Order: sequence, then C-alpha cells, then structure tokens
Amino acid sequence: MLYNVAKEVIDLAVQTITVRNKLILQNSQEHDAINKTLKQFAFACNQMLAVAKAENCWNAAKLQKLTYYDIRAITQLKANHVCNAVRRVVNAKSSTGKVKEFRATSIALDVRTFIYKDGSVGITLVDKRHWFEWKLSYEQKKLLEGKHNRFATLSRTRSGQYFLNVAVEVDCDKRYVSKNKAIGVDLGRRAIAAISTGESWDGEQLNKTRDRYAKVRANVQSRRSRSGRRLLRRLSGRERGFQQWVNHNISKSIVGSAKKDSAIISMENLTNIRQSLNAKPRNRQERRRSNNWAFYQLRLFIQYKANIVGIPVVFVPPAYTSQVCSHCLRIHPDPAKSFRNEKRFVCGYCGADCDADYNAARNIAAYGVTINSPEAPKLFCGLAPQFVLGAKPHQEPSGRVG
Ligand SMILES: [Zn+2]
Repeated sequence: MLYNVAKEVIDLAVQTITVRNKLILQNSQEHDAINKTLKQFAFACNQMLAVAKAENCWNAAKLQKLTYYDIRAITQLKANHVCNAVRRVVNAKSSTGKVKEFRATSIALDVRTFIYKDGSVGITLVDKRHWFEWKLSYEQKKLLEGKHNRFATLSRTRSGQYFLNVAVEVDCDKRYVSKNKAIGVDLGRRAIAAISTGESWDGEQLNKTRDRYAKVRANVQSRRSRSGRRLLRRLSGRERGFQQWVNHNISKSIVGSAKKDSAIISMENLTNIRQSLNAKPRNRQERRRSNNWAFYQLRLFIQYKANIVGIPVVFVPPAYTSQVCSHCLRIHPDPAKSFRNEKRFVCGYCGADCDADYNAARNIAAYGVTINSPEAPKLFCGLAPQFVLGAKPHQEPSGRVG
C-alpha cells in the first residue's frame, strides 16, 4: 500500500498551463467568419466520426487518409483545420471511450492556424487570416513571449463570447528538497485549507458567498423561466470566478511555504477523502461544500504550481489523519470515540490541545515524509499497532511537523 501511493509522486520536467482570455471582435463579419468556421469544423468532425465508426478506424494517419480530400472538397476548411479535426476525433475517442456528436462551439488550432504577436492574435478562419485584439495580463504575456505556442483552442461561450486558450509549456525548476521535510495540507474540513506550519485559510467568507448563490439558485430553479436560466448562467460564472481567485491565492501561498522550507508537499489521497468524508452522515450543506469541483481545483492548482517550481507532491492515505494525536501518535482507545471535537483536538494521553485541522495537517506531513523516503518507513510501522491497540508509541514523528 505504501509503495502504490508513492508512485503517484509527480515528476515531470515540463508543465503545460493554459493562457485564456477573451477575443475582442470589431464587427459582424468577424462574428460570421468565426461562426462559419466553428460550424464547418464540427461538421468535419462529425463526418470523420461517422467514417471512423463505420471503418472502425481510430488511427489519426489512417483516418486522415480516408477523409481528407472529401472534407476539403465539401467545406472551406484549410488543410490544417482538417488535420486538427482528425486529431480531435481520435483524441475524443481515446480520452472518453465513447464519442457522441461534436457541437459547433470550439475549434482546435495549431502553429499554422494561429499566431500571437504583440497583444494580437492572427487566426486562420475559413475565408482568410483575421487579426484580433487579445488583451492579456502582464503575467500571461510573460508566459507567451519567446515560446513557440503549438496548440490553441478558440471557443464560443454560451453567452456568445469568444475565448482563445493557448497551451504553454513551462519548464520546471529542478529544486533540491529535503527528504525529511514535508508540509502537510489538510483540505476542505472546517477551513478550506490548513497546513502543518500552522497557517490556515478560513472558509467562512467563501462558504457564505457560496451559500448565498445556492439560495438564489434554488429560488430561481423553482420558477423555471427563460430569464431565470440566464440568471443562473451568470451566477455560476461569477461564483466560479470568485472561487478560482481564492484557490489561486491559497495554492500560491502553500507552494511558497514549501519552496521557502525546501520541503515536499503532502496531501491526502483524494478518492479516499471523498469516501471517508461521505461515509459519515453529513448534512447537505456540508456535502456541497466539500464534495465539489472547487476542492479538486485547489488540489490541481497546488499540484501544478508545485510542479513548476520543482517541488514533489506526495499523496497519503487519509485514514486516521484526523484521529491520531500528532504529538504522541495515539488515538482514542474507544474506536467509536475521538479526541477530536469539532474545531479542537485535545489528546487524552499527552494533553496536547490544538486546532483539529492543524493536527490533521501535521499527521499528513509526517506520513508524507515516510512515503517520500522508503528507506525509513518507521513511522508508518510504528503507527500501525496503535490504530488497533492504542498502545504506547514507539517514536516521535520524524518529519517536519511543527
Ligand atoms: Zn497526544
């Protein structure tokens, strides 16, 4: 079990991140050209999909051979549009297994069909190459400049705006991290996040905002009108934006702490977290808060930011992380009871009295160290018997836990 978990350590030399922003259109001809291209691209994908299904051919080169000339003859798509359509069909099959239908909402672009230059982008559409103003933040510009950006997607949102997403490959730092130091991250319990250095991010403001949106949503949904649906769309966009901003800040600061201390980052194994959190009877509000995409997003942000600066992330089994006393490593002798009482953790053995999330984060850090140095799995072995017996501990945690 120990070594299976260790395999999840992320170790990539390159991290792909997406630069996304709105395209600014000047006139209705531009709208028409984009919409026409989106339509024809979806049409091409659907034609290819039909051929691929009929011939049971999911190889890009072969599918291209079978369809290329026909698609070029009946659409105005350029050569590279068609190649990208093939790729989209094949990728959709390999990533989702089953493909239904392609809708005219986005088109894949490559180095021949889009180019970024000084705040504008040139995009090849069915009629010609169009230049659009593309406003980027300073950080986004820095990411794009001096790189050959190979893949991009032009998409239309449901509200009729056009966005360009460009995939940028960022070289990751090679960083020395101490094998014996881990920052444990406890996510989504009382606080949004609590880490083993003692810092924590309060969920109160966020939960309040989210509850407010949930209330409006319930209200509107019960009425089911067209204007209601529009309002829902706008709400979900705003809520997402706010959450994303919060997650960016939290993850930035957690990765910053790890960088400063040359420590690895240790988090709970997600699939198990969901199970363990849901195993206990919890009210609807609690479930909504923890069992959603926002929680995944924060984890993803931490992972990719850590990857860019060269900090390994390890995943530990979540069992007992909130039950064990992080000072003396014991749990409550009665399996039905816990030293944890809502916000606080008060150990009945050593008397340690601290914030419950902080206690969990310290345990996650200690597990992380054990997993990261397989030559010294003492802590894990030392802990195991106590889970059952509540016996005297064999040793102190060896990790950075305080
Ligand atoms: Zn204790």
